[in-house]
Amino acid sequence: MRGEDLLSLFKPSGALLEGHFLLTSGMHSPTYFQCALLLQHPHLAQRLCRDLAQGFNDLGVEVVLSPAIGGIIVGYEVAKALGARSIFAERVEGRMRLRRGFEIRDREKAIVVEDVVTTGGSLQEVVGLVGEAGGKVVGVGALVDRSGGRADPALHSLVSLDVVTYPPEDCPLCQQGMPLVKPGSRANG
Ligand SMILES: [Zn+2]
Repeated sequence: MRGEDLLSLFKPSGALLEGHFLLTSGMHSPTYFQCALLLQHPHLAQRLCRDLAQGFNDLGVEVVLSPAIGGIIVGYEVAKALGARSIFAERVEGRMRLRRGFEIRDREKAIVVEDVVTTGGSLQEVVGLVGEAGGKVVGVGALVDRSGGRADPALHSLVSLDVVTYPPEDCPLCQQGMPLVKPGSRANG
């Protein structure tokens, strides 16, 4: 699937939002991808993640690790396409950890996947978890790379976009007095 095809799925599903958003990275942005609105349709999730998985076909991937919550569905569907295990990491007291008895075995081949990458901070943190556990990261992926390719040169994504972000102290939307929305916390988002 080409990038513009994926974007054509985002708009009708309401997953591409416009306004004034606080990103996980702490940056502010006039656009936000609420991937959950796209991934609520299992047939779309399966199709997109199967496309993403193709980039990792020949790597002998044994386990797919994703950051909760956003990455869980993507990780699960990519793992299904690759015949690998699917596990996720959760943020506990500010730090990504493996819980629920999830393990990465010594020298196990892993990929780390997410729905949307902005700065790549969470992704790198989860990549670090694999290393700590003795596993080997053989790839990183996301449905949408909104860093314009800056987050991680090795990142494999379906769509790469250079999306505008502002540091809070230098945000024109703040200066206009537009209310800031933290998308994950909205009752309707
Ligand atoms: Zn702002």
